[in-house]
Amino acid sequence: MTGPRLEIDLEKIHHNARTLIERLAERGISVTGVTKATLGSPEIANTLLRAGVSALGDSRIENIEAMRRAEVRASMTLIRSPMVSQAARVVMHADVSFNTELDVISKLSSAAQKARRTHGIVLMVELGDLREGIMPGDLENTVRETLRFPNIVLKGIGTNLACRSGASPDVKNMTELSALADSIDATFGPMLSIVSGGNSGNLPWALGGVDTGRINDLRLGESLLLGRETLHRQPIDGLYTDAITLIAEVIESKAKPSQPWGEIAQTAFGENPPATDRGLISQTILAVGRQDTDPCGLQAPAGIEILGASSDHLIVDTGRDRPCVGAEITFQLNYSALVRAMTSPFLAKVVKAHVPV
Ligand SMILES: *Cc1c(COP(=O)(O)O)cnc(C)c1O
Repeated sequence: MTGPRLEIDLEKIHHNARTLIERLAERGISVTGVTKATLGSPEIANTLLRAGVSALGDSRIENIEAMRRAEVRASMTLIRSPMVSQAARVVMHADVSFNTELDVISKLSSAAQKARRTHGIVLMVELGDLREGIMPGDLENTVRETLRFPNIVLKGIGTNLACRSGASPDVKNMTELSALADSIDATFGPMLSIVSGGNSGNLPWALGGVDTGRINDLRLGESLLLGRETLHRQPIDGLYTDAITLIAEVIESKAKPSQPWGEIAQTAFGENPPATDRGLISQTILAVGRQDTDPCGLQAPAGIEILGASSDHLIVDTGRDRPCVGAEITFQLNYSALVRAMTSPFLAKVVKAHVPV
């Protein structure tokens, strides 16, 4: 195997998904497996389905289309508000979409009528993170209007926290979401089958032993793939944090001073050059850079420290070791590094193991 690559261990992903699905089932919560960080990888999608996710969610219609083409069989939800320009594709390929704008739902309704399909809607409610969502006071009216559109079925409500602003899911906002679901069902008749509480940032709340109320679904991506909750990025007990790793090859390995010399200006990316002088170090260059991943989101093995990166080079201090050119170093990734790596055409994606069916 040559060149930088992502190694994807399906057995570890299966274990992570299975473990969280079982723990959440005890609380009456099902899992929508979020595939947006995997560029719609059919192998990963099928692994999540075998582990027992109830549906797949993705933020990009392109990824949902790719999974359909690969014959991944699942209910698929577009978890970003649809663009009106993509309404026809959304009703054709997604069973459900998350929505906050009546103008969008109107376009989805027209497209669904044309395609002779029905399209499911989950209305997203703003509960403090200030990303997508209908303000709670406007929800009842939005439900009333949504119910008028032909070929549109209101499936549920949801919220998304811990994303743009880091507002944490807690008893207060989750109780508010449950109360909103109760009030909608009381006003319009029981109709909300999905009450989707949030993402991997909801795990500390959901598994913390509190009453989970009406919340019966969480949309999990990062925790299944990287084994961490996302409020403090702590590893989740019993899960693998290395199901996906990045492997890069050494192209230069030399003893060099830790400080640059000459008149020092900005770097290629407008940052300031390194500050601390450590004398002579083992400077190793790997053939991977910002075109391939987010270097700030890589975690090097013990004894190796990441010093900097350009578009195509990752510079590390290998301490007492001086690896040969051609040697490989394996890194763990955070979400930012993973998303960039999965979407980079320069990185091979190598699926390592198959889960026994
Ligand atoms: C990305 C996303 C998720 C999944 O978030 P993770 O932190 O990866 O679990 C869930 N819901 C929405 C709306 C998202 O955009």
